[in-house]
Amino acid sequence: MDPALVEQKHGSSSFQKFPLTVARGSGATVWDEEGREYLDFMAGYGVAIVGHSNPSVVRAISAQAAQLITCHGSFYNRARSEFIETLVSVSPKGLDRVVLTNSGTESVEAAIKLARRRSGRQKIISMKGGFHGKTFGALSATWNPKYREPFSPLVPGFEFVEFGDAQALEAVIGPDVAAVIAEPVQGESGVVVPPEDYLKAVREACDRAGSLLILDEIQTGLGRTGKMWASEHWGVVPDIMTVSKGLGGGVPIGAVVALGDVVSSLQKGEHTSTFAGNPLACAAGTATLEFIRDNGLPEAAERGGTVLAAGLKAITESHRLVRETRGLGMMRALQLRVEIPRVLERAISEGLILAYSGRDTLRLLPPLVASEEQLRRGLSVIEKVVAEEELARTG
Ligand SMILES: *Cc1c(COP(=O)(O)O)cnc(C)c1O
Repeated sequence: MDPALVEQKHGSSSFQKFPLTVARGSGATVWDEEGREYLDFMAGYGVAIVGHSNPSVVRAISAQAAQLITCHGSFYNRARSEFIETLVSVSPKGLDRVVLTNSGTESVEAAIKLARRRSGRQKIISMKGGFHGKTFGALSATWNPKYREPFSPLVPGFEFVEFGDAQALEAVIGPDVAAVIAEPVQGESGVVVPPEDYLKAVREACDRAGSLLILDEIQTGLGRTGKMWASEHWGVVPDIMTVSKGLGGGVPIGAVVALGDVVSSLQKGEHTSTFAGNPLACAAGTATLEFIRDNGLPEAAERGGTVLAAGLKAITESHRLVRETRGLGMMRALQLRVEIPRVLERAISEGLILAYSGRDTLRLLPPLVASEEQLRRGLSVIEKVVAEEELARTG
């Protein structure tokens, strides 16, 4: 039976579906069941950061699968210890202790629990426009009312301030605040880059109030923005950092990397999970981190970002339909003046998969291994579908 029909009948109705069945992938390319080729600039919202079915990841998973697939966290395991060591080695200085999870939202859950446990305080300040996941704790730190309202009451103790406005934070932070949580660059909200001095000011406000700073690098981390961690653009080191998305090269895994005294505030049994530290996921994670480091993917993202920025700027300047373009490295947005579903579907039929943010913003999160030729090809499809949409609207 057709996968689309089965998923429509028996699958979750919550995913916004595109009319495409993906069968196979390699690098920045995926193929449908008929063998038709697509450039994947959505990459599962940035998950395929080292490319689809990256050969180093495939080798690591295959070898680990033959040796040991599961090992509870009650026991030590070399695949896990190697992953923890590698993750600490690429993390900001001072963040030398890791809590392993299975996804982004679980990493945020762990980060919130760590912050409350370590500080002995309850209040968490989050950002308007922020996105941290859809389980209850993470959802309570997420701004969009569309995700929140049907599920109230959420976890108490969360408060929101304007992202990018240091004074707004100053006005509410105080000795009752356990932590401030923010994405260095907001992803889900449409790639919102904060003002130049903002993150430094947030860091200083946290230090004055004795609050912990949680930076959610789930989308911005692992080289995406042109540095290993987006916080490096502003010379800021958080107390707690969340990582996931591309961390396992496509295999589900997440992590919290934090200061030693933050993680060691957890007492036995207070935060564990059956699959956390799974050897298969950890082997994928080590292979992914080594690939990112050994192939200079942050630098590749900076170079690729220059190509994307120039192309998107040219499209913005030559089409009235485009409101603006924003971004950092290979995390880019093109905001139109109209709703975009038709543009996204036209792009797919032209062989390009894009992500979106809200109703009017195209989001580009290509694998960092995409070649310059692939980036230019993607840009020319975007130019084409934007021009067609413009023509369709002006007649
Ligand atoms: C995707 C994302 C999450 C949630 O990750 P899931 O794996 O979907 O639960 C949290 N924070 C940010 C910044 C994200 O981009």
